[in-house]
Amino acid sequence: MLQTLDIDAAVAGADVPVLLVSVAQLTGDLSVLRDDLRPDLSNLFDPNAGLSGEALAKGRAIAAEALRRHIEEGRDPAPAPEGETLYRMIAFLVGDEPAQSYLELLREELGQDGHDMRAPTWHASDIAPDRTFRVAVIGAGMSGIAVAHRLRQAGVEVTVLEKNADVGGTWFENTYPGCRVDVPSHLYSYSFAQTTRWPHVFSAQDSLLDYFRWCADTLGLREVIRFDTEVLSADFDDERRVWRISLSTGETIEADAVCSAVGQLNRPKFPDIKGRDRFNGTSFHSARWEHDVDLHGKRVGVIGTGASAAQFIPVVAEQASQLTVYQRTPPWLVPTPNYHETLPQGVEELLEVLPDYVRWDRLWLFWRTHEGLLPAAKVDPEWTQGPGSVSTANAFVREFLIQYLRAEFPEDELFEKVVPDYPPAAKRIVRDNGVWARTLRRDNVELVSDKIREITEHGVLTDDGVERSFDVIIYGTGFHASKFLMPMEVHGSGGVDIHEHWDGDARAYLGITVPGYPNLFLLYGPNTNIVINGSIIYFSECEAHYIVECVRMLLERGKQTLDVKREVHDAYNEKIDADNKMMAWGASTVNAWYKNEKGRVTQNWPYSLLEYWQWTREPNPDDYVLH
Ligand code: NAP
Repeated sequence: MLQTLDIDAAVAGADVPVLLVSVAQLTGDLSVLRDDLRPDLSNLFDPNAGLSGEALAKGRAIAAEALRRHIEEGRDPAPAPEGETLYRMIAFLVGDEPAQSYLELLREELGQDGHDMRAPTWHASDIAPDRTFRVAVIGAGMSGIAVAHRLRQAGVEVTVLEKNADVGGTWFENTYPGCRVDVPSHLYSYSFAQTTRWPHVFSAQDSLLDYFRWCADTLGLREVIRFDTEVLSADFDDERRVWRISLSTGETIEADAVCSAVGQLNRPKFPDIKGRDRFNGTSFHSARWEHDVDLHGKRVGVIGTGASAAQFIPVVAEQASQLTVYQRTPPWLVPTPNYHETLPQGVEELLEVLPDYVRWDRLWLFWRTHEGLLPAAKVDPEWTQGPGSVSTANAFVREFLIQYLRAEFPEDELFEKVVPDYPPAAKRIVRDNGVWARTLRRDNVELVSDKIREITEHGVLTDDGVERSFDVIIYGTGFHASKFLMPMEVHGSGGVDIHEHWDGDARAYLGITVPGYPNLFLLYGPNTNIVINGSIIYFSECEAHYIVECVRMLLERGKQTLDVKREVHDAYNEKIDADNKMMAWGASTVNAWYKNEKGRVTQNWPYSLLEYWQWTREPNPDDYVLH
């Protein structure tokens, strides 16, 4: 394979800075990391990271030459870089001297030489050999797999309870056509389970489902997952200080701790529109796609233009005779030319010789998106040019995105309809490779922005008095995201129902612990969603780490439970609320699933990725009542 590799073709599709640093690692020769080839990441929207065409060509030539020599001379890979060498490589890739505070996080993300730096550094059998600590994990989706794996590495007894017939969570349930992730594959994957198998730059749903299945298999998790088993309720027994968990199978099991990994985006939300039950045709929600409904030649109405709808509408448009898209709020689109692309030609072969390319690419993506647009989402209190923007930086992004829309929609009538009047980052920005405009400009597609008055027996009636008839209505109307843990019943200390406790306004400390609910740990809990930076898998890994360290604290201190102090929880939430108000998503009044019915931002994390990592390094015993 190595002898036959066409090196020039292989490096042609690679990202040059990632390529150079991977070659430096393979050969041990850092001279390829030349100053004139160092990326400049100050312009987030520059796909070439400030490198001219000439510099890119030079970088590829240098990398190809070094690779060729390495292969021809039959050399072994250089030892994994450490210390100053590793620092120099990281500094080259991120185009800067990374602050010391970031360095450890970056090294973890990189997982140099396949070394899992986030693995627990302790084992239950060493700390408490006579004790079996049992954790029930609810959900075998992305975060359930992460926490179950970490707990098992630490020697904790784990049972995973999964309502579906397989792992994957949202990637198991959402099978609508066009479904894919909007974070690049090398980043939307576990740091501890990197793979060179991704076919696409941004993975499609089936690849992701395969990935999570592969993780469950290779991590040996299937033996502890109970499929087709829904948790109906979890009750804390104050006397014995354990959780009793009632299952859909009729059984009740016991655990010392419960991790809820049930996700936020899996309970389909139908809109509260008058007459919805009257429609005589077929209707379904995007997350419950009815694949046996043939849309070819049908008149189809779609309600919603969020991230899900933006993905399936282009596919439906190719099948339906007539497609009407009902848009309440237009999404911002970020140009992403390679959104549907397979990995660049040659890169797959390159990975055979340069497997560490994947890890360096992960680091590169992490850094490029790490705090990404976060500063541009911050509200400038002095800013007077709202409501379409919240600061100078935000207005700059707005202008960039408007220019893209203008180029994509030359017709004034459509352009007027698709330009958002709210600030970028107040809602999830949708990735686009031009397919949205191509779809909306089709002859068989109509974009309706008039308010829906009601759904009739035949179709949809809008406020302008026009009723359009359909064979099929598809709801791309999102999820009950802020109804955390629904419809499970969870009773904590004293039998208090968590939904009554929250009263529609879910809060948790670090998104993980809730006062009055000892040893209940949430993953992807309140205020742990990210809007414009990073990958949600990163958050789940941080949460899993924190939970594992909580168990360690209990075992080391010979305690049974921990319960977060109310004042700690409240002070934390006050800060989160105040800071979320100073972000585009908190300040804007636009509709978004980030706010609950009371108008509070229950979903989003208003700080950097680094801060979440720092705050979840280890539990502070003073934050908890240990029992
Ligand atoms: P969503 O973002 O909540 O979008 C729901 C859509 O339905 C919006 O356009 C909304 O309009 C519309 N809608 C809701 N109620 C309505 C009503 N009564 N009348 C008219 N329109 C109504 O849901 P989603 O698209 O399923 O996405 C949810 C989240 O899932 C995303 O933000 C993202 O985090 C994740 N997701 C990611 C991807 C990806 O990675 N590419 C794909 C799918 C989903 P308004 O905007 O006015 O509320």
